[in-house]
Amino acid sequence: MTQKEFTIHSAQINNHCPNCFAAKSLTFSFFQNQKENSWYVQTLAKVRDELFCTQCKEIIYPSSWDEHIERVFAYHKKLSVPKKAGYRMKVKALWALLILIISIAALGLWTWIRYWR
Ligand SMILES: [Zn+2]
Repeated sequence: MTQKEFTIHSAQINNHCPNCFAAKSLTFSFFQNQKENSWYVQTLAKVRDELFCTQCKEIIYPSSWDEHIERVFAYHKKLSVPKKAGYRMKVKALWALLILIISIAALGLWTWIRYWR
């Protein structure tokens, strides 16, 4: 099973970095995870957010955010619409399910013909 993280929303903000005080170097990103094997794809509901400074190359954690960054964060959190969480079967799994249903129906029909007719 492989797990991959994909970006659902990313935006550069105009606030100053609390570490290096550079302007226009901060980027908010929102990520969501997907687990996948050969039978199905599972999208997880949890959304991870990250504020990264391209100037000092560091992640800025919420403890060092000021109220302006928090306000911008709330705005971008509203803009990031996560994918619906849940399972999606692959074609291989759908075929296996179809063959299973046909097998059960055939067995039922055979039993009916053999014993109750
Ligand atoms: Zn910085």
